[in-house]
Amino acid sequence: MDQSSPQTPAVTPLAEVQGRIARAALLAGRSADDVTLIAISKTHDADAILPLLGQGQRHFGENRVQEAQGKWPDLRARYPDVTLHLVGQLQSNKAAEAVALFDVIHSLDRPSLVAALGKAMAAAGRRVPCFIQVNIGAEAQKGGCAIADVPGLLDAAREAEIPVAGLMCVPPADVEAAPYFALLAKIAREQGLAGLSMGMSGDYETAVMLGATHVRVGSALFGARG
Ligand SMILES: *Cc1c(COP(=O)(O)O)cnc(C)c1O
Repeated sequence: MDQSSPQTPAVTPLAEVQGRIARAALLAGRSADDVTLIAISKTHDADAILPLLGQGQRHFGENRVQEAQGKWPDLRARYPDVTLHLVGQLQSNKAAEAVALFDVIHSLDRPSLVAALGKAMAAAGRRVPCFIQVNIGAEAQKGGCAIADVPGLLDAAREAEIPVAGLMCVPPADVEAAPYFALLAKIAREQGLAGLSMGMSGDYETAVMLGATHVRVGSALFGARG
């Protein structure tokens, strides 16, 4: 008789994703330790997040300040060593709240936000590392700065004493992501930036092979969002 229960699969989604990251890193001659897996828990409640915390996952990402404020203070009280990442577009009027709650911000993409975050960080006495988000496919209606604006935004961030961790992108949907990841890596190299936040459920292995230091994986860990 089959003893396995549907609640406890032999290989958890977390172990599966970790294994795939390790294999992709190995293929690229990299160490899996150089890749941070961020579990994107947007739309999922504490009941869905707690099993991952129990399995040792500590980096989580949210895309809305208000949603994160609703669920993370309680979870953090139980798991104080969680690192919380903001991966969604940030309005300047939410900068202070974002600085108070998040440990890393992946969506720095315009001068007005540099100004707001610089001010918020100075007021809070807390310097939150930020990735500059690049609109790598030059898509209308997509977050991120133009490629040509990266050096200027980087200068502005440094001027505002915002620690810049690297570059982040969300490539165009439904086309091969690899050329966009390679381009983001090239720009980061040119700017002397070490961090690369790229790769989601559908393409994180490709991203790791092309140098991602942070992959942002949601549905492969939590299942499809409702
Ligand atoms: C939702 C989201 C992800 C995760 O997407 P999946 O395809 O579910 O892995 C990654 N990055 C950003 C910016 C997101 O908004």
